[in-house]
Amino acid sequence: MSSMNAGKHLLNPVLTQAVRSLTHFFGTRHGPVVGDTREDVGVVRAKHPEYPLVIQVKQVHGTDALVLDSPMMVNQELPGGWDALITNQSEVLLAVRTADCVPVLVYDSGRHIVAAIHAGWRGSVQGIVPATLHRMQECFDTQMEDVLMAIGPSAGFCCYEVDEPVIRSLRASYQEWAQVVVPRDTGKVRLNLRELIRCQALDVGVPEHGIGLMSFCTICQPDLFYSYRRDGSANKTMVSGIMLTRVTC
Ligand SMILES: [Zn+2]
Repeated sequence: MSSMNAGKHLLNPVLTQAVRSLTHFFGTRHGPVVGDTREDVGVVRAKHPEYPLVIQVKQVHGTDALVLDSPMMVNQELPGGWDALITNQSEVLLAVRTADCVPVLVYDSGRHIVAAIHAGWRGSVQGIVPATLHRMQECFDTQMEDVLMAIGPSAGFCCYEVDEPVIRSLRASYQEWAQVVVPRDTGKVRLNLRELIRCQALDVGVPEHGIGLMSFCTICQPDLFYSYRRDGSANKTMVSGIMLTRVTC
């Protein structure tokens, strides 16, 4: 469930249905080039013609969300580390950087709130996606039935082998863990990270029709994506983002 736009970034139909209220993209190795430089991390920037303000922060493989609920200024600093960004402010692009981790973009169509989440295995196993949804509920009274969510390109079930420590953490935190793994002859298992995230979202009440799952795999589609697993840690990342547009009646 996805489409390619201008050969650069990917869009998800679940979010494009709300195109009058928001704009979103999942980056590929071909672009877009927005908020992807080191000096832009942790500082509010205004360098891109399509996005008045761009926010990206230091990602730390945790589960905390930064809630931005008041107007921001260019060059404002956001020191600290977070793996989720939530805002009710229009014209502010929330950007996350991923290679094999899962970028998750969220829209609350009832309260007009967006979130961008960086969900690696650590964050996913610890429940960063339900934690972010709960934070939206706490701060903005988000109703789960209004949530639209797109789970973007990441290490796919086809390629994503993990070892015992990962499975141990998964077993400890997710009761239905056996549904998202398949054992291999090598003694390792393959983990379906995107399906784990989808199940966690369903568990907290996001409707099935509100979740768009993208099938691209960053590891076995080198023409489209960077991959830490495939290329080593020195490689680049893709940038994905979501922004509320000003609603005019
Ligand atoms: Zn693959």
